Amino acid sequence: MTDIAEAVRTQRLVKRFGQQVAVGGVDLVVPRGSFAGLVGPNGAGKTTTLSMVTGLLRPDEGAIHIDGLDVWRDPVAVKARIGVLPEGLRLFERLSGRELLSYNGQLRGIPKAEVEQRAEELLRVMDLADSADKLVVDYSTGMRKKIGLAAALLHNPRVLFLDEPFEGVDPVSANTLTEVLRRYTASGATVVFSSHVMDLVERLCDWVSVMSRGQIVAQGPLDRVRAGRSLNEAFLGLVGARGDGQGPGGEEGLSWLGATSA
Ligand code: ATP
Repeated sequence: MTDIAEAVRTQRLVKRFGQQVAVGGVDLVVPRGSFAGLVGPNGAGKTTTLSMVTGLLRPDEGAIHIDGLDVWRDPVAVKARIGVLPEGLRLFERLSGRELLSYNGQLRGIPKAEVEQRAEELLRVMDLADSADKLVVDYSTGMRKKIGLAAALLHNPRVLFLDEPFEGVDPVSANTLTEVLRRYTASGATVVFSSHVMDLVERLCDWVSVMSRGQIVAQGPLDRVRAGRSLNEAFLGLVGARGDGQGPGGEEGLSWLGATSA
């Protein structure tokens, strides 16, 4: 059974790559209307989890529900409800920003006039209006994130998944993205994003899931997870200062580094 108040729920989600268990039985829960952060050290399994949740990668075991719908049994209905800004975003490089949005809207079956109106508004809010006719191949990293986010929002999804949305984005653009996302969750929609930037997660999120070595090691409202500490301190306590769950350390070795060589 899934709770309809939950935007996302996975049950014992597993993904192996050969001998490697990338995701080892994850129960990810995100309540509706949350601004949720998925955090964890490099290689913890965040991207693999998000890829399975968004229907891009088939799980070896487990179930995933979005708004109560099974992602792998009811993919069309689920895809109409979700927006995705994946890691290493691939875009149609030879289209302009405006054409990219128009093309995405048509693929989603939105009437042309509606697509045009939404695209103009998104381009303006994302501060891309002056670059709307430039080819995407000539966009900067931050501009690519913004047009990718605009494309993910165009069909007004109920749940938005973002893998490292702020990577390579300057503070002004990050502020723009933040404002758009805040407004979006205030309307009752849900955002799930992965990030390594704890300050940002702490500032934006009201719900946090912490992953380490393919497992969820803490999950819940931000204040419960950080328990009176900064999120960064809580994170280091949960995953270990080395990021591998083995406790603090890592200063041994590297004795040659910075030493004057003979
Ligand atoms: P990062 O923060 O560095 O992006 P992550 O938490 O997103 O890391 P994943 O990319 O999900 O982590 O990787 C989890 C583990 O699965 C890693 O050990 C990675 O090497 C492995 N992995 C991921 N994708 C593949 C693949 N296609 N083939 C083999 N191993 C993979």
